Amino acid sequence: MDKKFLNSNKLPFCAGCGHHLIAQNTEKALEKLNIDPLDVILVSDIGCHGIIDKFANSHTVHGLHGRSVALAAGISLGLKNKNKKVIVFIGDGGATIGMQHILEASRLDIDLTILIHNNMLYGMTGGQASGLTPKGFVTTTTPDKSKTRNYDICQIALAAKASFVARVVVKPDFSNIIADAIKNDGFSLVEAIELCPSYAVKMNKGMKISEILKEIGEEEFVKKNENYRWEFYTNSTENLFDKVKILEKKYEHKLEKTFCIQLSGSAGEGVQTAGEAFCYASILSGLSVNHRGSYPVTVGVGFSTTEIIISPEQDCTYNVNSPDIIIITSLDGLNVNIEKLKSFKGILYLDNSLETPQTEAKIIRYDFRKFGAKNSAVFSLFYILKEKEIYPIDALIDGLELANLKDKVDLEKFKQDLNI
Ligand code: SF4
Repeated sequence: MDKKFLNSNKLPFCAGCGHHLIAQNTEKALEKLNIDPLDVILVSDIGCHGIIDKFANSHTVHGLHGRSVALAAGISLGLKNKNKKVIVFIGDGGATIGMQHILEASRLDIDLTILIHNNMLYGMTGGQASGLTPKGFVTTTTPDKSKTRNYDICQIALAAKASFVARVVVKPDFSNIIADAIKNDGFSLVEAIELCPSYAVKMNKGMKISEILKEIGEEEFVKKNENYRWEFYTNSTENLFDKVKILEKKYEHKLEKTFCIQLSGSAGEGVQTAGEAFCYASILSGLSVNHRGSYPVTVGVGFSTTEIIISPEQDCTYNVNSPDIIIITSLDGLNVNIEKLKSFKGILYLDNSLETPQTEAKIIRYDFRKFGAKNSAVFSLFYILKEKEIYPIDALIDGLELANLKDKVDLEKFKQDLNI
């Protein structure tokens, strides 16, 4: 094994924070098990612990608050590889927010290990109480001591048939427990109890961890439930990643800098799928792609907008609120952009049927709807590609195929009309 799990001895947490020890003991556990950090997928959550990402030599995924277990479950089920270890770092706040995800992963015995950094408050956002804050604990939102009881996350996981559960007070070496959790073939949860020096220690002067444990309900323990091992999900599902389309570069592009296209039309006119086809075409031409769709919650009526950012650079972030061009193929698309167009200074491609809006943009008109509403979005993208020559038209034809659109549009008419 060339690399250690952590790439630095200096972690970014406050002095005395138990997060140091959890990360370091995870490293020790992986070494004990002889697991290469590159066989680890670390899924972190929102919270101080989450800044571990750039200090880990493993693969890392940073989840939304409370959602890291759901992400990790998807990764574990998709990988279906016992040699890869999916480990979740989550705080007590994230565990409260995402408790249902913990229960589901436990119920299905999904092969992953959750390390709950339980310091009994939201450290990153200012020391507020979480669902794991015990009675009598002072936080910034319970300055007169918490009057409510905490969830006992270990007992909850056990009731949801977790096959490995441990509660441990963070100490210099508890790597054996983490190693046992990782070794367990199915779901494992370790609740690591610690105090946050920046909030908890200051606000609960003199409080001992032993008192907190008494309030939480149990002493430290490790419980392995062989009876709860369930192989159905880990062994019987297909590898979801087998279905992922790997697109090899096939065409050359002429794009020199990041370019953002916004296409707005009407629901039901294939706007999103046209955008998808354009993204495939861009990837086939060696470009990085960022794609976003927006539409009303009632997806079958009103406007539909697709925003595509393409770039010759690897990092394809760009402000989608300032596109280089806006294409509008229908009245719904125009109405939703009326305010934005007033100050838009790029190029506006407007369907011939639409009135000229108030705008600072240069306007180019074309009859994008000439082959019918269902062809309008994708036809407009053929028009743009012909005009801008970003990459060959054949790339977009391949994109249509990948988006299952090729047989649904009048490709021959497009070619004739645009002389391509
Ligand atoms: S604020 Fe608290 S939880 Fe966050 S790093 Fe500092 S001590 Fe740790």
